[in-house]
Amino acid sequence: MQIVRQLDPLRDALAGFRKAGAKIGLVPTMGALHAGHMRLVEVAMEQCDAVVASIFVNPTQFGEGEDLDAYPRQEAADATLLEAAGAELLWAPTADQVYPSGYATSVSVSGIGDGLCGAARPGHFDGVATVVAKLFNQIRPDAAFFGEKDYQQLAVIRRMARDLDFTHQIIGVPTVRDPDGLALSSRNAYLTVEQRADAAALPETMREAAIAIAAGGRVAAILEEAKGRMLASGFHKIDYLELRDANTMAVLDVFIQPARLFAAAHIGRTRLIDNIPVS
Ligand code: AMP
Repeated sequence: MQIVRQLDPLRDALAGFRKAGAKIGLVPTMGALHAGHMRLVEVAMEQCDAVVASIFVNPTQFGEGEDLDAYPRQEAADATLLEAAGAELLWAPTADQVYPSGYATSVSVSGIGDGLCGAARPGHFDGVATVVAKLFNQIRPDAAFFGEKDYQQLAVIRRMARDLDFTHQIIGVPTVRDPDGLALSSRNAYLTVEQRADAAALPETMREAAIAIAAGGRVAAILEEAKGRMLASGFHKIDYLELRDANTMAVLDVFIQPARLFAAAHIGRTRLIDNIPVS
């Protein structure tokens, strides 16, 4: 696997893949890879001939006081995992290859990016849309792979791709979870042993709420009760717990299909997010 940090050698390598007629799959990440990321690589390997993974801890998607400096960085271990999985190239750009001196452009997706994490983390999805648009232009993949773990992010990227005429495939991959249901996340590394045990209350409470909603219960009451249970289980702040249309991301006060439950909650110094279908 080649590890590339500059745009010129990246373009040379990609030209080689294209000359060989390879279908190029892109898996964008911020590193600290776990089995969730590796599932994206696996799906990309199944569907493409040459898999390019990127690792870039994108400063523009972190807000003030967020964990940019503390974000786990372990590129050597990540590279070993990617190579073993069969990736052809790791694009690990230096910051100036993504944001050259004088950089002044931002991509903003209104509507879909406004609520949920967009409301809790102002500017976050502008940073995501901007860096993903840049990665799409830098790599020009035939398909790009994103986790449903970050479902709103996936919806923002789909909207951006339609709006800005990126015509390659955007593939969503179901969330990979630990046996107790907690979605794998690089941020789980911040949890103490006790917090990690308590964190399972997030998916568990969401699953119970989803079942109650699908059974016809009153949505607002079910969500209020679920929030109470999360707060009693070690979470100290809930950014949101909402039922939304899985396609449009519009808020749902009553259950209609296709619906999804979205949550973000804080435990210790860690903010966890999750989402599940309600059906
Ligand atoms: P990140 O490194 O957190 O930016 O994530 C990179 C990609 O991996 C994103 O498309 C995420 O949605 C995806 N991802 C992260 N965690 C999981 C998971 N538990 N299951 C599936 N995909 C995931």
